Amino acid sequence: MQSNRGRDTGPELRLRSALHAQGFRFRVNYPLTVSARVRVDIVFTRRRLAVFIDGCFWHGCTAHRTLPKSNIEFWSAKISANRERDEKVDAMLLRGGWRVLRIWEHVPLQLAVAMVASALREL
Ligand SMILES: [Zn+2]
Repeated sequence: MQSNRGRDTGPELRLRSALHAQGFRFRVNYPLTVSARVRVDIVFTRRRLAVFIDGCFWHGCTAHRTLPKSNIEFWSAKISANRERDEKVDAMLLRGGWRVLRIWEHVPLQLAVAMVASALREL
């Protein structure tokens, strides 16, 4: 279980180093002008692409949604709140002229790299 606040998590680090190895250059944990509270995991500033690596637990991935046995109501409320927040953040970014790419942490690394590469090609 990983924190939704905690940065430099495993999946994010792996994706960052894979992208870097392929010659992509980007900012990490980048504070956006649309809201100081929002930090984006991987940001291509010039191309205005914001990439989030969403943890399966904290962001409520339906494929791996296993809630802890205790305090189920607490956890489902917390995860719902996270999902609502994600949607607000996405909407805010879109309004600010950004594109948003969310990648589940369970996505295999090579596929995640391909998703980012193709999102950049579409720009
Ligand atoms: Zn998942």
